[in-house]
Amino acid sequence: MAFSSSSLSPFPSISSIDQPTRPSTTRSTIFGSKPKLSVIEQTHVTNLASLNSQSLRLKASRESPGLTQELTSDRLESIAEIENRYDVFDEVKHRFLSFKKHKYLENLECFQNLATAQAPKFMVIACADSRVCPSKILGFEPGEAFMVRNVANLVPLYENGPTETNAALEFAVNTLEVENILVIGHSCCGGIRALMGMEEEVDSSSFIQSWVVVGKNAKLRAKATASKLSFDQQCRNCEKESINCSLLNLLTYPWIKERVERGMLSIHGGYYDFVNCTFEKWTLDYKESGRYLVKDRVFWA
Ligand SMILES: [Zn+2]
Repeated sequence: MAFSSSSLSPFPSISSIDQPTRPSTTRSTIFGSKPKLSVIEQTHVTNLASLNSQSLRLKASRESPGLTQELTSDRLESIAEIENRYDVFDEVKHRFLSFKKHKYLENLECFQNLATAQAPKFMVIACADSRVCPSKILGFEPGEAFMVRNVANLVPLYENGPTETNAALEFAVNTLEVENILVIGHSCCGGIRALMGMEEEVDSSSFIQSWVVVGKNAKLRAKATASKLSFDQQCRNCEKESINCSLLNLLTYPWIKERVERGMLSIHGGYYDFVNCTFEKWTLDYKESGRYLVKDRVFWA
């Protein structure tokens, strides 16, 4: 189906795409559920409790006399948390050193070249959600993708003014001259859920609402096309509609539109379903007179 860049109905109806059902989620946090660390925390609380209290007093005595009592009582819990953080970073340190040994040093020439310049072919815009991780799921290696991640993988309109997302876009397109922009949405997106659940009036005290309202046209389309569906299903529709809206919003940037029209830059949408582990990809196909088609729609399962 053809459409003009001024239209907000550019794509075949996303609601018509076969969508595997998923169990409804009772969680509505932006970034999903927090991993349970209670076992680890308990271990360290136990270890800490077994410490000689004298050592705590010696440590505290270097600070101020009043600190001793504080450290031996009320702040045990916070020290336990610090201990826990050290443990977390032990794991991170191990991962880094493993990366250095098995990736960096084994591909030294490649990384030395990257140290002087980068020439990624991709600009990726993905959600901040910890489960999305484009480098992991699509295998982007260092130097291959300039990336920005924000809540709900949204691209604001050009006329909305500067944000960190369009600052990254400007650098990627005008300086790095990437050949592809890929906007990746995903299943169970808490940012989209927040967008769908918010009132008409934005609560200006909420940074989340003030940001996700960028996707309000996607919300309107999802509500219109999926009005009889459950809220969860409407959210799923909006997850895909928001990608389409972001692709259209990219075209409001003159330096992006020009490169697309000259065939120097391609714009793609992607949808990562981490419930069923599938990935859907499609590409905008520019036509004369400002019309666009969707092409190369593929579904990886
Ligand atoms: Zn998300």
